[in-house]
Amino acid sequence: MSRKKIIAGNWKMYKTPQQAREFVTAFLPLVADHKRDEIVLCPPFISLIAVVGATKGSNVMVGAQNMHWEKEGAFTGECSPEMLVAEGVTHVIIGHSERRQYFNETDDTVNRKLEVALEHGLTPIVCVGEVLEEREANLTEDVLRRQCSRAFRGISAKKAAKLVVAYEPVWAIGTGKTATPEIAEEAHMVIRHEAEKSFGKEFASALRIQYGGSVKPDNAKSLMSQPDIDGALVGGASLDPQNFAKIVKY
Ligand code: PEP
Repeated sequence: MSRKKIIAGNWKMYKTPQQAREFVTAFLPLVADHKRDEIVLCPPFISLIAVVGATKGSNVMVGAQNMHWEKEGAFTGECSPEMLVAEGVTHVIIGHSERRQYFNETDDTVNRKLEVALEHGLTPIVCVGEVLEEREANLTEDVLRRQCSRAFRGISAKKAAKLVVAYEPVWAIGTGKTATPEIAEEAHMVIRHEAEKSFGKEFASALRIQYGGSVKPDNAKSLMSQPDIDGALVGGASLDPQNFAKIVKY
């Protein structure tokens, strides 16, 4: 089963709209001929419109870093899936570990967001991963199985067709410590197996699972060469157009 890799840049809370436009101006020519992989930029909400406009007609798509599950309402500070779709956003990160850690995101809210993102035709990137204490206590597999099964609960394989999962060991995010390709591959196999339990064998073998956690130009190739690693979710190294283009073209 050949899976088109998906390389997404998570800018977190960096770049003003003007800086975002400047990034795109520098980045697009570097990846203009690149058809092998799906390329996605995920700026903060405030820069989504600027990045959608600047990437129009290119091979680069745009994702949000979060969304609410409701259509509209009294949810100060939130943004709905409908609002994202209306502006040309195609992807959305759900359950990033920083949202789980600082903003009370739970397996249950991830499940609700996933369901609604799929209903709106967005490509959801659901993040899962263990913290250091869980890895050291040999709990990685349990954590991944729990996060995946709860995220996928009540969703059919047909509905979940666009699902992407990102394995992001929390101890590797922004720390410069990357999981070895072998550690990542092992975790990806657990996630694929859990997807098989929820959605069936055919779905699981087509499911794209990204690795995220200190991906850099010099480690991208070895990670991406693993059979079950289908792309990368890149934080820090996606802020620089040259670096991110090198990762895309690993
Ligand atoms: C991330 O933000 O999802 C991430 C993986 O960050 P970094 O690449 O900086 O570790």
